[in-house]
Amino acid sequence: MAFTEFRPLDDKSLREYIKATPSLSSKIGDNFDNLTIKEVGDGNLNFVYIVIGASGSFVIKQALPYIRCIGESWPMTKERAYFEALALKEHGQLCPDHVPEVYHFDRTMSLIGMRYLEPPHIILRKGLIAGIEYPLLAAHISEYMARTLFCTSLLYRSTTEHKRDDLVEVLVVVNKASFELTHLFAEFCGNMGLCRHTEQVVFSDPYKVSEYNRWNSPYLDRDAEAVREDNILKLEIAELKSTFCERTQALIHGDLHTGSVMVTLDSTQVIDPEFAFYGPMGFDIGAFVGNLILAFFAQDGHANEGNDRKVSL
Ligand code: ADP
Ligand code: MG
Repeated sequence: MAFTEFRPLDDKSLREYIKATPSLSSKIGDNFDNLTIKEVGDGNLNFVYIVIGASGSFVIKQALPYIRCIGESWPMTKERAYFEALALKEHGQLCPDHVPEVYHFDRTMSLIGMRYLEPPHIILRKGLIAGIEYPLLAAHISEYMARTLFCTSLLYRSTTEHKRDDLVEVLVVVNKASFELTHLFAEFCGNMGLCRHTEQVVFSDPYKVSEYNRWNSPYLDRDAEAVREDNILKLEIAELKSTFCERTQALIHGDLHTGSVMVTLDSTQVIDPEFAFYGPMGFDIGAFVGNLILAFFAQDGHANEGNDRKVSL
């Protein structure tokens, strides 16, 4: 089976794809007996398969040209896989301890092969809801943000490095999976489709009546209405939206909420940077801290007899 043009994979065709792809089949020792392929199915946007063989494992993530959890009615470019692969490589080079390694990237198929973050890794949001305390999380995520944001900004680079257009070098890097340092400022301007999505769902929709807004109705109807009618708040948000669109400060993750981090008690791995672009550092830092604040205020609601959610010191 040839994979010369894009097509969505399923368990069966993925097996054929792996057989035809040395960088993947070598990860499982070219042994296809007892190979298990399982679609994880909890992603909002893409398809993620866990592939486990007798002598190795990896994850395959494929982007389709629409948003998975909504369907074909909300198109979204499958080129997002390209920007996710670039960001994983750039950030992975700067902070290998906290970014999964990329084994393979196929732009035609919008497909990434990467390290399988094996159990007990779970999505951080699930861990926080379960009341698990992560003693190393603050140090790990701070290191991730410091390395990726500082090193891709003008605090570290010269203006010449920051703005140079390395398209040719980038293509070589992607195809050969080489690990030279790349500066991708101009290239990431191509991810404007996903930036527009953020502009809409983070900076516009919550402040007006919009098709995809959700809240616990009728309990929060008054609160949602108060947000829509708060002109001072909307002016502040408009300022932040300008900054998001205008400020090319660093290569940000672009979607750094607690659903984009996988953890164990001693490992912290940042996944899913498909919204990456050169934007304001505060967007990553604010998304993560904002998610922690939400988790903090949700703890009372999750308390039970076994775990009262009081801080244990
Ligand atoms: P989406 O972009 O569709 O949100 P994600 O990258 O967030 O996709 O992945 C969806 C789910 O797949 C994650 O919540 C996680 O459970 C699982 N997953 C993704 N990447 C890995 C990985 N490298 N190792 C293990 N599980 C992963
Ligand atoms: Mg995700």
